[in-house]
Amino acid sequence: MPSEVLPRLAALILLLAASRVAAQPVAIEIVNLDAPGEGLNDPTPTPRVGGNTGATLGEQRRIAFQYAANLWSRRLTSAVPIRAEVTFDPLPCAPTTTILGYAGALYLYRDDPSFPRKETWYPVALANRIKGKDLDPTRNDIEAHFNSVLDGNACPFPRKWYYGLDGQAPPGTIDFVTIVNHELTHGLGFNTYVETSSGAKYAGKDDIYMTQMFDATLLKRWPAMTDGERLASMTNAGNLLWDGPFVNSHAGEFSGGVGAGQRIMLYAPKPLEKGSSLAHWDLSLRPHETLEPFYRVPDHVSGISRDALSDMGWGARTADSNAMILSEGRVAVSLTWRNQYSNKTGLGTPVKQMDQYGYFWFDSETNPEVFVKVLDFGGPSYLVFHSALSDLEYDVTFTVLATGRQYVFHRPAGSVCGAADGETVKK
Ligand SMILES: [Zn+2]
Repeated sequence: MPSEVLPRLAALILLLAASRVAAQPVAIEIVNLDAPGEGLNDPTPTPRVGGNTGATLGEQRRIAFQYAANLWSRRLTSAVPIRAEVTFDPLPCAPTTTILGYAGALYLYRDDPSFPRKETWYPVALANRIKGKDLDPTRNDIEAHFNSVLDGNACPFPRKWYYGLDGQAPPGTIDFVTIVNHELTHGLGFNTYVETSSGAKYAGKDDIYMTQMFDATLLKRWPAMTDGERLASMTNAGNLLWDGPFVNSHAGEFSGGVGAGQRIMLYAPKPLEKGSSLAHWDLSLRPHETLEPFYRVPDHVSGISRDALSDMGWGARTADSNAMILSEGRVAVSLTWRNQYSNKTGLGTPVKQMDQYGYFWFDSETNPEVFVKVLDFGGPSYLVFHSALSDLEYDVTFTVLATGRQYVFHRPAGSVCGAADGETVKK
């Protein structure tokens, strides 16, 4: 459980300084809390797998975690780096179900004058972003814990961790990058702090997550409910909904898991499942998303969970939030477009088709607009192609994830030809 941190009065002195809204991607750093010789420091020699070049088990765990953290860092903007405490320890394990990991914000803040909503708890990474500076540079921001017994033979659960970066986890394994991608979402604030036993608000105040929760039976948002009403709402499966403008704007892209008023359902089974209820999307969501309570398949994107963070104050999606990950997890492709007739702009929505190629749609999912392809013949550069079935203007960005090198290709309005570039997209 996070402890509460009440802003010190001394901080008020800084209030009148304008807080800077940064546009740069936020850095997410690992704070390794494991002891020498175990967890993230496990010295067991381990064969390379799926683009992960770590020589030991511990090194592969660190590399895979940082890879997933880098995916998130490019989806978010903040002037304040995020520090995530990470451990890899034996957690409960059973033959049919097992805990893969858990994560959360280490601290909550409220009532800093920079916060848009008063009397409301904000998870620390978000609080720092809104403030534009670190509210307490001596403290870390996120804790994330993973179950080490999936490696080795101590656990009767039949599936093992896969530490590759390429999203190609074979059957019988669990893709670790997917789990980090999922858990970091919780750490960034995707959770309510309402007491699940009583329905009481955490320390008597709203949290920013629950301000977006709406019950379609009671026709109330969570902050306006009594404790008893919130308790009933927690298990009102199918009627407990997320109601925020960013998520709502994507509801039309789903054929399942959408409730009254075109709002996305939260996971609210009866009886309540502690640790799973309320902080995930409903299992009926179609297409599926990573922020469902059970692992399914490798999934390195953020989807509407990123929009939920927008509703909480993380700002709109960046282009990288909509990136398509190609070439065995090594290249991210994102696209921004402008319609020269309506002057509308937006982010292309990626639809990956194979490991080498996919397409983006702009306004309508039934209308593919730009195809992209990344080929790797083993040389110092990737050969990349983009080709429009559209005369709209766009910029397509190829990012080499290992090095951070980024290449932007512009297509002017009215052009219907594609392009290739094998010279400049260096690895
Ligand atoms: Zn979760």
